[in-house]
Amino acid sequence: MFPEKKTIVIGNWKMHGSLQSNEIFLEKLLSTLEDLNSADFFCGIALPAIYLFQFSSRLDNAPFFIGAQNVAQWEEPGAFTGEINAMMLAEFDCKFSIVGHSERRKYFGETDKLVAKKASNLLKSGIIPLVCVGEGQQEREKGSAIHFVKNQIDEIASCLGSDLLKKCNFAYEPIWAIGTGNVAKESDIVEMHGAVKELLVQIMGEVPAQNISLLYGGSVNAENVLSIVDQENVDGILVGGASVSMETFGKLLEKLAGRRQ
Ligand code: PEP
Repeated sequence: MFPEKKTIVIGNWKMHGSLQSNEIFLEKLLSTLEDLNSADFFCGIALPAIYLFQFSSRLDNAPFFIGAQNVAQWEEPGAFTGEINAMMLAEFDCKFSIVGHSERRKYFGETDKLVAKKASNLLKSGIIPLVCVGEGQQEREKGSAIHFVKNQIDEIASCLGSDLLKKCNFAYEPIWAIGTGNVAKESDIVEMHGAVKELLVQIMGEVPAQNISLLYGGSVNAENVLSIVDQENVDGILVGGASVSMETFGKLLEKLAGRRQ
């Protein structure tokens, strides 16, 4: 699980990075975390897998975690050209992995069933799954966003079972808010997060459901971060565009530093 009682900030680099720019990012991230009171938040970066080694070799007591953005649906080594399984990720200090990001659902046809399989593989290797769910523009306009997201979680829960589901964390990412600059309204975030928490309580009971972190993602930046993380049932944020450079990510972390829960 992610640490309780801390605001969780996960950067999703997507397909960004280079050996040279990563070094600059790392230096700046480490010095920023040293300067800030990072006791107030927990920071993780979901890297392209090819950069896990570069980061893991520099992690000695570093105050942040590294994670992956995806994992193979196959658990065991095998003839799956181009794929990386959970056991391989674990070897590089990968503490968490995003699964079911809307871009993977859209471009790679990933279904809730597949997302559940990937989450299960991660858990077997001791890696925390960060499961993304979220409605599209159409569902939001039709007024069926909550129904859509609850269905996604129900489907994942029925494949995974409540014991494994208890070990997952979730990110609510409305698809229309990702990379668009359109942040969900605070009232919509509160409503959705409340509905998701309620569903998790129904599935697994109050205590385990409260231990699951529920992040919001979709165009979060330094300007809007505080109004989002202060909402009820928002345990943190998943940040795409604003996390790939320390100029924007550093400003976002500064806003969070010193903020009391
Ligand atoms: C994401 O990639 O998960 C994301 C939320 O992106 P952005 O912050 O750029 O909207």
